[in-house]
Amino acid sequence: MKGAGTLTAKQASLVSCLACGRLSPLIGSDACPRCGAALHSRKPESVQRTWALLITAALLYIPANVLPVLRVISFGKERTDTIMEGIIYFMQSGSWPLALLIFFASIVVPLLKISILSSLLLSLHRHSQWSPETRTRLYRLTVTIGRWSMVDIFVVTLTVAVVSMGAIATIEPGPAAMAFALVVIATMLASHSFDPRLLWDEMKRELQDDL
Ligand SMILES: [Zn+2]
Repeated sequence: MKGAGTLTAKQASLVSCLACGRLSPLIGSDACPRCGAALHSRKPESVQRTWALLITAALLYIPANVLPVLRVISFGKERTDTIMEGIIYFMQSGSWPLALLIFFASIVVPLLKISILSSLLLSLHRHSQWSPETRTRLYRLTVTIGRWSMVDIFVVTLTVAVVSMGAIATIEPGPAAMAFALVVIATMLASHSFDPRLLWDEMKRELQDDL
């Protein structure tokens, strides 16, 4: 295994600065001597915080998909659309790229993020030794794809803005828009509070066993 023999900064009694990367001695360093950022060998309460935020995101994901994301009042008739109904509407009206974009941003990205981060947390609970390199890559993937969820908020805002300009219809964001925005924020905070360095700590066990 490639990562097995690697010494982590923590094992070398060092702590790295997350802001500027400088290494400091583990003992007696509370703040980075170069940039002043607080130093934590591992983010405090990382696992508990990430779980709490992931559970919040998963719970909010239900109203985000069940409740209407848009309310349209046109000629006295009110019509509401959930995210999925919106996707189907765009598909039927021939806007395939937009339908795909919304499907990716509102269904695929949040579910992928929640499931990757949960499995990373479960791997920590199980003291998994399975490829920390691959798991770190999976973690980076959640950070990279996370920003795409914001596309949805833009679509809702743009739709509201564009349709409001033509006065034939009244359109406003439904309760799901708020729930969805909170899902995006919760998953962003979850991937931020997860400390990928924890994935390498089990390798220490193996290292010590070898000695
Ligand atoms: Zn620093």
